[in-house]
Amino acid sequence: MPLKTNHPEKKTWLPVPVNSDFPIQNIPFGVFLTRDDIITIGSRIGDYAIDLGALHQLGYFKDIPLTDDIFLQDTLNDFISDGKKTWRLVRNRISEIFDINNDQLKNNEDHKNIVLFTMDEIEMQLPVQIGDYTDFYSSKEHATNVGKMFRDPENALLPNWLHIPVGYHGRSSSIVPSGTSVRRPMGQTLPAGADQPIFGPSKLVDFELEMAFITTDANVLGEPIPVEEAENYIFGMVLFNDWSARDIQKWEYVPLGPFLAKNFASSISPWIVTLDALEPFRVGSPEQTPKPLPYLQQSGKKGFDINLEVAIKPENGKATTVTRSNFKYMYWTMAQQLAHHTINGCKVNSGDMMGSGTISGPTPDTYGSMLELTWRGEKPLTLEDGSTRKFIEDHDTVTITGYCQKDNVRIGFGEVTTKLLPVFQQKKK
Ligand code: MN
Repeated sequence: MPLKTNHPEKKTWLPVPVNSDFPIQNIPFGVFLTRDDIITIGSRIGDYAIDLGALHQLGYFKDIPLTDDIFLQDTLNDFISDGKKTWRLVRNRISEIFDINNDQLKNNEDHKNIVLFTMDEIEMQLPVQIGDYTDFYSSKEHATNVGKMFRDPENALLPNWLHIPVGYHGRSSSIVPSGTSVRRPMGQTLPAGADQPIFGPSKLVDFELEMAFITTDANVLGEPIPVEEAENYIFGMVLFNDWSARDIQKWEYVPLGPFLAKNFASSISPWIVTLDALEPFRVGSPEQTPKPLPYLQQSGKKGFDINLEVAIKPENGKATTVTRSNFKYMYWTMAQQLAHHTINGCKVNSGDMMGSGTISGPTPDTYGSMLELTWRGEKPLTLEDGSTRKFIEDHDTVTITGYCQKDNVRIGFGEVTTKLLPVFQQKKK
């Protein structure tokens, strides 16, 4: 089935601001609360949110085999479960409805009033009910930097790293959409030079610049997904800030890996950009030496050229961009991650989310965390208001943005923006 939606010359009758992340070539999927307090599945073009539930009720999808209530849901899980063929039919149809040469909806004011919302009339929700969340550790630069700081500069990568897309199982209960503030966590840390831990607020709260992919039902328990088929089970991607408490992490992570340092909050951008929309932006991924084992060997371009930025905004100050990275730096691809995740027969469901791991590039201005940007706090960053940061301070707002650009088409992800609040204070009784 052709991806008609992606044609760079395609135009829409809706107004789209210059440099919008959401031209008619994007057609992402999300869930929002309308001005009438109704929750619905939607898409977005320019600064308009499109109510797909209403479009379906008005008959605009009548040629596509969909259940009546497929878009009248508070999550995308069932729609994603319908599989890639349905995603493509629906995305192509939305693209037709809003094509500049199609008058059907354009000239129907009543229908437009029901279907279209401006962004200030709606509230974005979590797009999927995330059943399971896995976080990988697939940037070689990031793993090398962390290895140098926490272990041995001479042997920064552990022996397994070049053979396995290393990952751990996270916690889906604390994943929140952009705009939801998160609290500085309390926890145990071991102060420098001490031999006994203390309890208190984390002093080293950090962002992790990541992306995440959302899967459909991929397999039955016991059956692996071959690496060459893996992308068929990836619905799309979001921006992902995997909040981390570095001091808690350092004390707790041996021998079983991250635990409370990571599961207090993770933030995602609310629009899922489909893998189909990202198709024109494929690039090769870094050469893998040594060659991976056969079940991880892939062909073709499995990387994606996605520009990523992180900005920090103090409470009453301007935002300062602190890093510029790119998803193409990932050593292990999403296809390899999914193939590895299921090689033991582990089952993957619709709405599962897999984080890339922190995405650091080759130079210090492309590192994906404050831990690396300030080299453990040794080299503080100066923000535009003159204040300095080793890590994230209370009331700072951290914003990740991301977009692809080629042939005058820009496909973006919007943003994931999160304010860090002070630690929770127990109310006195
Ligand atoms: Mn992470």
